[in-house]
Amino acid sequence: MSKIYIIPEKCFGCGLCVKSCPFAAITLIARPDKKLKLAVIDQLKCNFCGACLDACKKYQAIVIEKDDFRLPTSDLRSYKNVWVYAEQRHGEISPVVFELLGKGRELADKLKVKLCAVLMGNKIESRAKDLTDYGADTVYLYDDEMLNEFQDDPYCELLSQLIREEKPEIILMGATNIGRSFASRVAAKIHTGLTADCTGLDIETGTRNLMQTRPAFGGNILATILTKNHRPQMATVRHKVFKKAEKCSPRIYSGVSEANSELIKKTFDRTKIKNRTKYLKFIADVSQKVNLAEADIIVSGGRGLGKPEGFQLIEEFAKAIGGAVGASRATVDPGWIPYSHQVGQTGRTVAPKLYIACGISGQIQHLVGMQSSNIIVAINKDPECPMMKIATYAIEGDLYQIIPEIIKELKK
Ligand SMILES: Cc1cc2nc3c(=O)[nH]c(=O)nc-3n(C[C@H](O)[C@H](O)[C@H](O)COP(=O)(O)OP(=O)(O)OC[C@H]3O[C@@H](n4cnc5c(N)ncnc54)[C@H](O)[C@@H]3O)c2cc1C
Repeated sequence: MSKIYIIPEKCFGCGLCVKSCPFAAITLIARPDKKLKLAVIDQLKCNFCGACLDACKKYQAIVIEKDDFRLPTSDLRSYKNVWVYAEQRHGEISPVVFELLGKGRELADKLKVKLCAVLMGNKIESRAKDLTDYGADTVYLYDDEMLNEFQDDPYCELLSQLIREEKPEIILMGATNIGRSFASRVAAKIHTGLTADCTGLDIETGTRNLMQTRPAFGGNILATILTKNHRPQMATVRHKVFKKAEKCSPRIYSGVSEANSELIKKTFDRTKIKNRTKYLKFIADVSQKVNLAEADIIVSGGRGLGKPEGFQLIEEFAKAIGGAVGASRATVDPGWIPYSHQVGQTGRTVAPKLYIACGISGQIQHLVGMQSSNIIVAINKDPECPMMKIATYAIEGDLYQIIPEIIKELKK
């Protein structure tokens, strides 16, 4: 832990540090002799930005001792290979893992290193083949009763240990509920950077840096982030952002033939793993009625519907074409339709074969959630709106006239 403290003998209670602190972490208290005041720093509020050091340059009464993790990784070159964390639930590998294997393969081939997967759970050895089938050269396996259900402490401890031993260059994880919690915990433990919710990953020309692209500032810009000084480079990616890896057989990648793909079984001493939580039971969430992420066809409604009842037409359309119902945030926020239908940056990311956007303008926050759909159809009054521009087929006009016509045709 980094530390910050005041040297009382040097502090004259001038208050300059109080004014300089952007986090309101410093206050002045009266000293016992009531003559001078003394600055005190709230460690929990302090961000170790160093603004107070500048303010107290003259008296040098403030000291910051920074933790080692703020220093760069000393041996960047000793890190190699691309890893994918193979998240599983109840023995089933999450679909996002196969998408990460596809992207991971591409990155590993560019870097001329191996693609490895890490599989953790209980009685899951048979799943390792799924991973080699989809491109992993090496699978590290932790198979133990203690890992039956995901729990932060043991999973984090084991993965961090493995990272310290094997030194991967890149680690990709799904931006699932588990992945988000797990990846950030591991990154903090091994003192490296993490870019969440990446929409693009590539290798910087001439270096081995991972270019991690993600929407920033409310989706108004796409930022490309580099972890230049630390290893491994960690990124999470949502389901459906990348294409699923091709099943490969036989395959030869980076000089590693399928016959050479290996399973490395890892063991650990259970008594050495601290766990602060106790797993009681799993209760499935039955409130999620729509599985947008898996749908091949999605018909989405936007503010252009004009009223909540407009979704009856969208539902009828979706039913007629065999699709699921999506929505823009402009219709979710006023309660026209539940949040589970929302597509976009703060909703679901989807990539169906066919996405039909009805009365949706196509603001960037919506587009980032559906722009990898194979075919996009836009129905909109405004031919100049972004959705009409990116659509494969743009139908200009009033949705209340166009959709009933399409439904009539579909019913024929
Ligand atoms: C941090 C942040 C996160 C966000 N996350 C999301 C997100 O996850 N998902 C999301 O969707 N939005 C999100 N938004 C909101 C986003 O910026 C837009 O406000 C929203 O997507 C607009 O929704 P819309 O296209 O339905 O509405 P509008 O932009 O109002 O567009 C309505 C469209 O309907 C058309 N129209 C009107 N009447 C008709 C008609 N009768 N027939 C045909 N067309 C018609 C209009 O021409 C217009 O193009 C986010 C915003 C912020 C700041």
